Amino acid sequence: MTHKAGRHFLQIPGPTNVPDRVLRAIDMPTMDHRGPEFQALGKRVLAGIRTIFQTKNPVIIYPASGTGAWEAALVNTLSPGDLCLMYETGHFASLWKKLAERLGLRTEFIAGDWRHGADAAAIGARLQADTAHEIKAVCVVHNETSTGCVSPIKAVRDAIDAAGHPALLLVDTISSLGSLDYRHDAWGVDVTIGGSQKGLMLPPGLSFNAVSDKALAAQETAGLPRSYWAWDEMLAANENGFFTYTPATNLLYGLDAAIDLLHEEGLEQVFARHQRHGAATRAAVEAWGLEVLCAEPSHHSGSLTAVMMPEGKGADALRHTILQRFDMSLGAGLSKVADKIFRIGHLGDFNDLTLIGTLGGVEMGLKSAGVKHRSGGVEAAMAVLEAGHAAENRQA
Ligand code: PLP
Repeated sequence: MTHKAGRHFLQIPGPTNVPDRVLRAIDMPTMDHRGPEFQALGKRVLAGIRTIFQTKNPVIIYPASGTGAWEAALVNTLSPGDLCLMYETGHFASLWKKLAERLGLRTEFIAGDWRHGADAAAIGARLQADTAHEIKAVCVVHNETSTGCVSPIKAVRDAIDAAGHPALLLVDTISSLGSLDYRHDAWGVDVTIGGSQKGLMLPPGLSFNAVSDKALAAQETAGLPRSYWAWDEMLAANENGFFTYTPATNLLYGLDAAIDLLHEEGLEQVFARHQRHGAATRAAVEAWGLEVLCAEPSHHSGSLTAVMMPEGKGADALRHTILQRFDMSLGAGLSKVADKIFRIGHLGDFNDLTLIGTLGGVEMGLKSAGVKHRSGGVEAAMAVLEAGHAAENRQA
């Protein structure tokens, strides 16, 4: 392997760059997960993670990727043959649907065009029509990582309530937790699914279920088989800071540090930073004369931007050029949009200069790959950042 000078730019929409403080925290001798030192850490992270989901209820932490926590959310709350209403926001919503079907659930997809978040009114209309209350859960991806579209979760909750429907609300926040404003309790979500490798700035390997009282009650009668994912025994062990099986001890040291970082910056500032970087990235895309995949401005994501390629140009060749020449990884288009789009991740441990470096790499890459565009994207992004800082200074 030849040495490449400088840092690799990992600008896929997760896993994201891990800050040094988190890396240093993980770099500890592995400890006894039944001992007192672990117990103190367990109690700290189990309490701390609630603040990130903005919940007073328990959060279950799994040594698993996000897919495991998707499965956990379903098997703890539902029974074989139950009907789940899901919304086709993109690739990840489609994968979640497939997983549900494999578990023996029935699913119904509200079709989407992969350019919008979920339509709360369409969900409400379907629930209104379900007078027999056959639908047991509504499943929505908050930030669809394959498209860069955000779904309005509070509006979905309001639509469920307006329909007077008892379905549970299950939400995937794998690429929004710790990046975009998200409120498990205030928005009345029953199970929120999260992952470690994006806004939380950790390596992959941890995932989460935040639960409501209603979800905990559903667990009592849910008939799907579960063992590894079962909430009940885990919650009992968590009372004392312990876990039922061997937790990912070193990642939990990292989680402890990551929670501190988010609070030191302040969640509001973290959310504002991601919004600012999303706006600056979109300004660059517009200046290049390219199009953002997300077609609804109120659904634009602060954690990633998916960019459509001009007709006749493949996104994968562009990404390849950028990786070879500038040592930067960008996200690929997945399934339906493979090779048609590329995704710029601007989430996690990321600041104004990382954004400018990222956009500079894209702009140089467009040029060297011969993709028709206008220059000036980086300048347009800088203007948005400057305007944002000027507004902050006026407020201060
Ligand atoms: N849901 C969303 C929105 C995602 O972005 C991802 C992964 O990128 C997943 C689910 C799957 O998570 P994992 O790959 O950690 O299993």
